[in-house]
Amino acid sequence: MSPEIRLDGPTLRANAAAFAALGAPVAAVVKRDGYGWGARALARELDDVVESYVVADDVELAALRPATGRPIRLLADAPPGMLARILDLGGIPNVSTAGAVAEARVEAARRGPFAVRVGIVDSSLWAAIRAPDAGAFAASLAGAGLAVELWTHVTSPARAGTILREFAAARRAFEDAGVPVASVDAASTASAAAPIAFDRLRIGAGLFGARMGCGVAVRCAIRVHAPVVRRLVPGSTSWAGYGDVPLPPHLSAVVLRCGYGDGFPKALAGTADILSVGMQYTARATSDGNDPQVLVGADDDVDTLAARAGISPHEFVIGFACT
Ligand SMILES: *Cc1c(COP(=O)(O)O)cnc(C)c1O
Repeated sequence: MSPEIRLDGPTLRANAAAFAALGAPVAAVVKRDGYGWGARALARELDDVVESYVVADDVELAALRPATGRPIRLLADAPPGMLARILDLGGIPNVSTAGAVAEARVEAARRGPFAVRVGIVDSSLWAAIRAPDAGAFAASLAGAGLAVELWTHVTSPARAGTILREFAAARRAFEDAGVPVASVDAASTASAAAPIAFDRLRIGAGLFGARMGCGVAVRCAIRVHAPVVRRLVPGSTSWAGYGDVPLPPHLSAVVLRCGYGDGFPKALAGTADILSVGMQYTARATSDGNDPQVLVGADDDVDTLAARAGISPHEFVIGFACT
């Protein structure tokens, strides 16, 4: 009698395609083991519709590689001594320090040209360089047979203008230093838009159906089906769960076998038709027309549910998976 919690493959693929329709291929961000849902499982669904994957580090790269032949981009710098292994695994490494650059130059001399990723400082917390340092950093990469995939992270519409101006200046610095800029990428789900799609979009939460303000028509890919374990007919009980949630006397409700222990946010209690959320049970008012067992389904909206629970869409997505 446990809840069935899964992702809908066709919806995942349709969401990726909806982002790609902005005009650039999608790099599926599957860090933190695919936002908890399994990076390999996501790759099995998405491999035909995405260009590449983005993971945090060499450990996540090695875990994902058996599931895909596509490029896998890294967010963190390679730990010292790990660059060769990352390249052997078909990873595209990030470099942001003199030590990482030195190691890249040695590898390029040994195995020939390859691309490294260089991030320009933004409000994400991954390894990146400051835009004013781009000239000196570019000079340190020049003449080594290394191409650069330049990236930044537009994390808010309010700061987009500044971030993109600095990004453009950094790009010129690399070109002036004679370092080939192989590609540029800047947008994640929240900032996904045609003018800054550039060479690829880095999409994580959007694959699951979050929009976070972007105009892309995605659907909720999360399916939570919770069996009814009890029906609360009017008058059968007046209180539900901790906190003595009152059940109005006229209300018909069901007890569903799914609670915050399964990832259904406790803070949804008292919103819409959700009366009470326990560790394994949720009391939900029944209304005509919708199946009470579908706690999260195709007709739901990830951003709306997250907002109702007072959490970010990322937390909502990852909550069901990390139980
Ligand atoms: C996590 C992450 C993404 C994906 O963000 P979403 O909001 O889930 O689309 C993109 N770029 C970077 C640098 C990230 O850290």
